[in-house]
Amino acid sequence: MKVGVLALQGAFARHSEVLGGLGAVPLEVRTPTDLEAVDAMVMPGGESTTMSMLLDSSGLRTPLAERLANGLPVLGTCAGMILLAVRVTDGRPDQRSFAAIDIDVRRNGYGRQVDSFEDQFPVTGLDGPFHGVFIRAPVVERVGTAVEVLARVDGIPVLCREGSVLVSSFHPEMSGDGRIHERFLDLAFSA
Ligand code: GLN
Repeated sequence: MKVGVLALQGAFARHSEVLGGLGAVPLEVRTPTDLEAVDAMVMPGGESTTMSMLLDSSGLRTPLAERLANGLPVLGTCAGMILLAVRVTDGRPDQRSFAAIDIDVRRNGYGRQVDSFEDQFPVTGLDGPFHGVFIRAPVVERVGTAVEVLARVDGIPVLCREGSVLVSSFHPEMSGDGRIHERFLDLAFSA
C-alpha cells in the first residue's frame, strides 16, 4: 500500500506518520516521477492558494489530474479538500481545483472569530466520536447527490465521500486517532 503524501507545502509530515503506523508505506510526492510510484494519495492541509501555484510549478498539476480522473483514491484534508472540490468561493482568482468530489466550499468559511476550533462529533461507521481540529477550515456549502456525508458539525458537512475520494474540513492527522486514515485505506485498497 504505497500512499503518496503531497509534500509541496503544509501539514504533510504527520500524515506520513499516521499512515506508517497503520502499515501503509507513505511516500512524499513532490514531482511527477514520485507520483508514478503511488497507489493512493493524501492531499494535506496548508494553504490551498500556495499549493495550487506549486502544483503548476512542480509539473504535478496535469499528471495528478489524470490520475484522479482515472480513479486514484485520495484523502484531502482542509486545504486538500479545497483542492479537490468542484467550486471554491473566496479563493484567489487564479486558484484551481481538481473537481474530484462534487462539493462546493467556501475558503476560510468559518470566519475570523472561530478561525480555529476543536470539536467532537460522530462519524458514520466509526465507534465513538472523532475529535476534529479545524484550522481556518473551509465550509462545505453544497454536496452533490452522489456524495455521502459521513460527519457534520452544527449541520455543516465536515467529512464527505464520493467513491474513493474522502475529504475532511478538519485535520484528522492531528488528533492522535488514526481511524479516518484507516477508513481511507479500507476505501482505497479493499475494493
Ligand atoms: N485556509 C486554508 C486555505 O485556504 C486552509 C487551512 C488548512 O488547511 N488548515 O487553503
